[in-house]
Amino acid sequence: ADYKTDVHNDWCPGCGDFGILNAIQMALADMQVPPHKATIFSGVGCSGKTPHFIRTYGIHTLHGRVMPFAQGAKLSNPGLEVIAVGGDGDGLGIGAGHFVSAGRRNVDMTYIIFNNAVYGLTKGQASPTLKLGMKTKSLPQPNVNNSVNPIALALVAGFTFIARGYSYDVRHLKDLIRKAVEHKGLAFVDVLQPCPTYNDINTKEWFSGSNNIDPVTKKVMPRIYKLEETGYDGIVRDPAEINEKMGKVIEKANEWGDKIPIGVFYQNEHIPTFQERISARIPNYVESPPAKQEIADLSGKTITNIEKLLDDYRL
Ligand code: SF4
Repeated sequence: ADYKTDVHNDWCPGCGDFGILNAIQMALADMQVPPHKATIFSGVGCSGKTPHFIRTYGIHTLHGRVMPFAQGAKLSNPGLEVIAVGGDGDGLGIGAGHFVSAGRRNVDMTYIIFNNAVYGLTKGQASPTLKLGMKTKSLPQPNVNNSVNPIALALVAGFTFIARGYSYDVRHLKDLIRKAVEHKGLAFVDVLQPCPTYNDINTKEWFSGSNNIDPVTKKVMPRIYKLEETGYDGIVRDPAEINEKMGKVIEKANEWGDKIPIGVFYQNEHIPTFQERISARIPNYVESPPAKQEIADLSGKTITNIEKLLDDYRL
């Protein structure tokens, strides 16, 4: 299927968002998800425009509120592949409470954060992932706040798949998104996404290391490296190894600067999904979810008995 729309794209030339958009479209094509079975939700920000460019169902929702919309859709219609997208300011600033609450539920869906450390749409203010003391070009003074660590936050919130990609390594990112969507449970993909317009520090050159030259050997020292190429294994194969694996995630999540890991940090399919928890209480939930209830007769007259519906879905 072709997942491209003909909606005009007004992202700045060279924006990392393009790579993420391509990676999502490629992952959907790889998995052969029919467009009508996929739904993309977004918050507000440059990344919020993503659903307009992908030929699936989708909703451009409210600032910080993408997770309630996306989780609601998945719970109402468990047959959909649901992907939520948004920026770091959207998801980890105003949306941080929803981010943490989502981890506790473990709804089987994917959340992708376009992480550029600035509020690009509103001209480059410091976002929650901008490091302490950094002064990107819109800031009159260096950042006075410390940054949140999205990988560590996702881990302690309860996300059961945690990965980080890089927007200019589209094939690798496509593979991560595919793994995230195929994961049983709530998956998070943090994507390092250069904003060439407002983040003049974490640029493409900075990530690739082309401006990080070893003073002795004069060789380029790439900052980004792939976890899977180092033998790192974040998959929890036995619940007894959860603590050990979580410790390793924190260690890797704290690496930043000269060495920045990308890849799968953590995967744990031993935690029941929210759908499984509901099915344990409402046995026909998956076959007969809210989205499959008839709400009107052929003439369009409502036949919904709200009282009965509320009773049926009472947990
Ligand atoms: Fe991309 Fe930054 Fe432009 Fe937004 S402001 S479209 S994040 S380059």
